Amino acid sequence: MEATQTVTTERGAKGPVIDKRSPVSGEPLGTFPITSRDEVFAAVARARRAFPAWRDTPVEDRLRMLARIKDVVRTHGEEYARRISEDTGKPLVDSLLTELMSIPLFIDHYRKTAPKTLARKKVGTPILFPGKKSYIEHFPMGVIGIISPWNFPFQLSMVPTVSALIAGNTVVLKPSEVTPITGEIMDEIFRRIGLPRGVVEVIQGDGTTGAALCDADIDKIFFTGSVATGRKVMAAAAKKPIPVELELGGKDAMIVCADANLERAARAAVWGGLVNCGQMCISVERIFVEDAVHDRFVSLLEREVDKVRVGGPDEHADMGPMTFPRQLETVERHVKSAIAAGAKVLRGGARLDRPGQFFAPTLVTEVTPEMEIYREETFGPVLPVVRVKDADEAVRLASDHQYGLNGSVWTRDVDKGLALASRMESGQVMVNDVVAITGNPALPFGGVKNSGFGRYHGPEGLLSFTHQKAIMVDKGKLDFEPFWFPYREKYAPMAQAFHGLLGGNLPKALLALTKLRKISEKG
Ligand code: NAD
Repeated sequence: MEATQTVTTERGAKGPVIDKRSPVSGEPLGTFPITSRDEVFAAVARARRAFPAWRDTPVEDRLRMLARIKDVVRTHGEEYARRISEDTGKPLVDSLLTELMSIPLFIDHYRKTAPKTLARKKVGTPILFPGKKSYIEHFPMGVIGIISPWNFPFQLSMVPTVSALIAGNTVVLKPSEVTPITGEIMDEIFRRIGLPRGVVEVIQGDGTTGAALCDADIDKIFFTGSVATGRKVMAAAAKKPIPVELELGGKDAMIVCADANLERAARAAVWGGLVNCGQMCISVERIFVEDAVHDRFVSLLEREVDKVRVGGPDEHADMGPMTFPRQLETVERHVKSAIAAGAKVLRGGARLDRPGQFFAPTLVTEVTPEMEIYREETFGPVLPVVRVKDADEAVRLASDHQYGLNGSVWTRDVDKGLALASRMESGQVMVNDVVAITGNPALPFGGVKNSGFGRYHGPEGLLSFTHQKAIMVDKGKLDFEPFWFPYREKYAPMAQAFHGLLGGNLPKALLALTKLRKISEKG
């Protein structure tokens, strides 16, 4: 998807605004001022001024302040869930569970682990450097620009923001223009917890605002979104240059072996492919089924798809509308071109005849690797099934793809599942489950190939917002340096020390060091 997509923007009394419409009804939901380029630069300047004091605040105190987010979410969670659902169209359960609840999980995890992760660590020092100690420290980068997408507008903004803050950085966050209501909620939350001015700045707007943020005086860009925009962001970062982390698209492979628990796998495929209306970077988008169980598995999928209730958040349905109108067009195009290329649509396949951006839960079989629906990210409520000879063929096809974000393997033999998982070219793989992996804050998350690079969540999720500093200390106990001047006749004992160390002959090396010492002392 091209980055220039916007929800309609208009000129309000005070400048351009985002004109937000309901994905459920198409009705207007309000206008939201777009942050101008000058205001973006001013926000970054405020974050820059706030940085030294925030950096010097002990990590325990930073964590204590950020933990207030949990209180705010507890008090206002139901209201926020309603507003996120209004913004995105997703069921209230999803807003509560996959958006809001993710933040307390991460904060609790980092309250336990962050002080240790960010602390100075002692590492070994070779015997060649007697009397010295070595350490690794991590220090925050400065101002982090975070740019996020619309599919999980809260979680995908808040987790990197909170991680960067815990690591001691200040943040300027630009949520997606498609979900400005969630942008407003996050701004409210950071105001409510009373962080010092400038520690987090939320700016609203489309690609122009994001591009202005990339041009501003920031020290790293953490970007989540499409490959096309990721390339532009990386090009902008290259001009400075500053580090960039890209969390991009995916095309999850689900490998269903003949010995799998097919009932469970079918329920998982339908939930993993249709939750959030399939608008998920780790949505099940390619289901490889071994020939021996293909037909049986497909009928189980039909049964499960038939149970899915579609509707808006007020209808307490399982699946809502699509959040972004242009994505609906992509889904339609993929399904149409798949049919033209010989695929069979067994369920759904078209928009629903009701107002709003609804697309029917769709099951497509006889999908092959040449089809657009197989090659490109669909990001919609579509389950494409691919028939394979065996698990080896499935692993080969799963990995032979532009994306490598996430996948799953289904078999009753867990050892076999692990072995297949290890062979998949993917940032994450689950055995006998889908999606849940992203909810474990201890596990690193990120992709390979066109799915991007860098990891967040887990210890990497904090360390990636820091620079490393190597420190070596001479404690002053030995006033002798074997390698300093004068060199004189040092060559022979040095060669002995060298051979002793390489050969694991410690006495020989120590003897050589003693000779070196004598030569140095003669000085
Ligand atoms: P997008 O690339 O269109 O937009 C993402 C963000 O980039 C938005 O905030 C947008 O305003 C901003 N932007 C647009 N042009 C810009 C520019 N030139 N410079 C800076 N910022 C710019 O993506 P989207 O449609 O919002 O999100 C969907 C995509 O995100 C899918 O491909 C999906 O797979 C991916 N995604 C990845 C992950 C992950 O963790 N890997 C998670 C969720 C979504």
